[in-house]
Amino acid sequence: MQENLQYFFKSLRQVKGVGEKFFDGLSRLLPNTRFKDLLFHFPVSFIDRSYCPLIMDAEIGKIATLRLNILKHTPAPFVRGRKIPYKVLCSDESGLITLNFFNAGDYLKRQLPVGGKVCVSGKVDEFNGERSISHPDYIVSVSDFEKIATLEPIYPLTYAITNKMIRNVVSILLNNLPDLPEWQDGAEISFSDALKRLHNPQKNNDVITRARERIAYDEILANQLALALSRENFKKEKGVKVLADGSLTVPFLRAFGFELTGAQNRVWNEIYNDLVSDERMLRLLQGDVGSGKTIIAMLALLSVVEGGGQGAFMVPTEILAEQHFETFTKLLNNAGICERVRLMLLTGKDKGKVKREKLDLLKSGMVDIVIGTHALFQDSVEFKNLYLSVIDEQHKFGVHQRLNLSDKGGEFSANILTMTATPIPRTLAMASFGDMDLSVIDEMPPNRKKVETLVMNMSKIDELIQSIKRNLDDGSIKKLYWVCPLVEESEKLDLSAAQTRFEEMKRVFGDAVALIHGKMKGVEKDVIMSDFANPNGKIKILVATTVIEVGVNVPEATLMVIEHSERFGLSSLHQLRGRIGRGGDKSVCILLHSNKISKMARERLSVMKETTDGFKIAEKDLKLRGAGDILGIRQSGIVDFKIANIEDDYHLFMAASQDVKNILLYDKKNNTQRWKDLQNLLYLFEYSTKSLNLKG
Ligand code: ADP
Ligand code: MG
Repeated sequence: MQENLQYFFKSLRQVKGVGEKFFDGLSRLLPNTRFKDLLFHFPVSFIDRSYCPLIMDAEIGKIATLRLNILKHTPAPFVRGRKIPYKVLCSDESGLITLNFFNAGDYLKRQLPVGGKVCVSGKVDEFNGERSISHPDYIVSVSDFEKIATLEPIYPLTYAITNKMIRNVVSILLNNLPDLPEWQDGAEISFSDALKRLHNPQKNNDVITRARERIAYDEILANQLALALSRENFKKEKGVKVLADGSLTVPFLRAFGFELTGAQNRVWNEIYNDLVSDERMLRLLQGDVGSGKTIIAMLALLSVVEGGGQGAFMVPTEILAEQHFETFTKLLNNAGICERVRLMLLTGKDKGKVKREKLDLLKSGMVDIVIGTHALFQDSVEFKNLYLSVIDEQHKFGVHQRLNLSDKGGEFSANILTMTATPIPRTLAMASFGDMDLSVIDEMPPNRKKVETLVMNMSKIDELIQSIKRNLDDGSIKKLYWVCPLVEESEKLDLSAAQTRFEEMKRVFGDAVALIHGKMKGVEKDVIMSDFANPNGKIKILVATTVIEVGVNVPEATLMVIEHSERFGLSSLHQLRGRIGRGGDKSVCILLHSNKISKMARERLSVMKETTDGFKIAEKDLKLRGAGDILGIRQSGIVDFKIANIEDDYHLFMAASQDVKNILLYDKKNNTQRWKDLQNLLYLFEYSTKSLNLKG
């Protein structure tokens, strides 16, 4: 490991001039408090101080940097009710200028000694023909003129930290910047030069652009290389060659009763080929809500049972686990293969003896397929021969969880299929799931009616409820969802809003309404959900917080009302709306909003009205919010680019991914100098060398 690298990981506390208070502020401002964190804290703009006219030539209202002779101090006289500044009169060969200070102190006498010369930078004003600068931004000795008469970088700041403080520390860090061996091929600017240029703005945009691209490329290269290495590592483990013979999947598909769509057929083929090969599968299945991913997951799981192995199906919520369990059971029954496929449900609800028994069944191989929630991730869960893990709604599981799961294969290492309904723009997919193969279902089952979306003011809520009542009575609506407002960061408030709405609806609809929320006991939820999902059940209206967001399937539900829809993000709205329009009947989604609605929220709602295409919505979302927020990827720590930009740097991603291919084929294999130097890059961007097992 390069000694020089350690420099970037030293604590800012060690820098001269960084006291406790300053350090405190830095720790609030930066993700971490090491040299590299400040070095990657780039200026967002600059102030041009390179304008150095004579006093009388200075443009009024513009920032100028002046060389001045100090003539005279006039302390502020005390005048009741008026604030008069302390004045320092100065001159140059062209004329006079006054420096004004409110709340002056003795320091001014020392800083601006009469008869001396100084260099001052600030905004030039004029009043009654007299020129002045109030509170100059800089007062320095003439010998430091060059230092300020430039472009001053402006940093994002926080309480108790000034731009000057940041600049001082940054310049100390930059002055001592060690050289690192070059890891890029044919780079025009070195890593350290690029850093220096980004912190020292220049008028020449080209220079900045090239410096930015240099570092952006480093960041992307590190990311792509790390993902590729982790993929290599994953694939190194011997996979299971599943001896699937169709003895389960064929009757199962027949019982399903629908033809697979072209897209479903294609991805099923891709997955099947992975399973029957002896390479380990690591695949991401992407498909919009309602595109029919579940049946594909079930087919994959049945294939491994055909091959004598076990499968695990993991979903984000208990409701969903239960629903998949029921659907699966029903289809197995209809297909007449329920004796050959032993299915089990395992959720957080299983406790004590029941849980132990279930775990034993898994471990001894008495269960073929287990469907469950996060509970499956617990270390106590062991399998006899886990051949396949299917993880639904992938983005809710972090990268670490998905790797942790892969260790449960025992003798073999499990294949992994993850599924997501969130359409992920291409570069984002590369950046966050670049270690996985990608399958996309880009076609909806044919029996779908388009969902019509209406945007409506909350003030119409009473009319809406009356019209729902009529439609339920005459049978034109059978089931509907009523989603309650999301109150940020407070599940309690969410709940009380939902509860209030529920009570009100109950007065109109009686027992036909039920409330469901995240805090509810599993059994309670069960009863309600299965009644709601049952076409003959008494529950017609499900008032819910966003617990229904993921995966629930009730084809009879043809109406969804979302209250305070302006508070939801685009991807949540899209996910929610995907719950309806699943049967043959026309569906309607009503987005209720209050009067207080921001421009951005209004734009979101109109996007929802215009399109049902999840991919378009995701791209719009990316534009409106920027990457990182989407999918909550930022929190999961998978993608957190400091300078690279997921929207604009597509070409860099493409170049880096090609670069990585060559690196693996050539440099890594031959252990070249570049390969060694690239270790510094990985280390610098904190893709831990140890966890990636680079030596092996
Ligand atoms: P998602 O991709 O959101 O998980 P699901 O797998 O829940 O979607 O499928 C949504 C609905 O579409 C289910 O009712 C499912 O039975 C149905 N479905 C899936 N594939 C087809 C198909 N090829 N033809 C008709 N209906 C289908
Ligand atoms: Mg699903």
